[in-house]
Amino acid sequence: MGYRDTIDRYIQEENVGALLEKSAEFHGHICSFSAYGVKAGFYAMQQLALTNEGMEEVLAIVEANNCFSDGIQLVTGCTFGNNALVFKDLGKTAVTVISRKTSQAIRMALKKDYWESRKAVYPELFDLFDTMVTRREKVSEAQKQRFFLQAEQMARTEIKVPAEEIFGIQKMEAEMPNYAPIHDSAVCALCGESVMETRARIRGGAPACISCIKDPYFYLDGFGIGYKEGKSEHSS
Ligand SMILES: [Zn+2]
Ligand SMILES: [Zn+2]
Repeated sequence: MGYRDTIDRYIQEENVGALLEKSAEFHGHICSFSAYGVKAGFYAMQQLALTNEGMEEVLAIVEANNCFSDGIQLVTGCTFGNNALVFKDLGKTAVTVISRKTSQAIRMALKKDYWESRKAVYPELFDLFDTMVTRREKVSEAQKQRFFLQAEQMARTEIKVPAEEIFGIQKMEAEMPNYAPIHDSAVCALCGESVMETRARIRGGAPACISCIKDPYFYLDGFGIGYKEGKSEHSS
């Protein structure tokens, strides 16, 4: 296959800078948290001697849905779509990478003290972040450009810091999750769309999808995992 040859080569050559640039194709920009994700993914893939063809031979458990998890997805190849990315809604910038072949795992969590020490190193960037992102205040185009430029510079500097300085790192035996199940599809009698059998409900003897009958469901958005209350009177 070899579709990830370029990424594998960068990992082998320890070219974290090139991995960071590559991650922007996926993440849309270069920032410190995507850099930390790239770094953690790189370190884990290297330490566990892994390559990934996207068949759940490598698993990544991320503990927050932030920029960090995009760096992880690019470098480890464990993605939302190939079922190798597991999301725990814990709000921590941390990842556990697992090798199914060896059952070895590494958990890496951004050190609180390390992150706090960055404020003194990049004071203007942290101020701009507070204004633009935290408080969503309007800034001039020039300030915006300055923010992105400084964020990139920070990321390109941070990616070179040894992993041990940035992360608390634990190596462990992994508890191996099962492979993701493959389900048959049903066809919703109301909208005619195909729906995974385990998500179909039976209404009047026929399969119906959750959206048509307004049953409750879980969803993931920028706030984390949410639960959408249903409006159906006859939820099964
Ligand atoms: Zn980002
Ligand atoms: Zn439907």
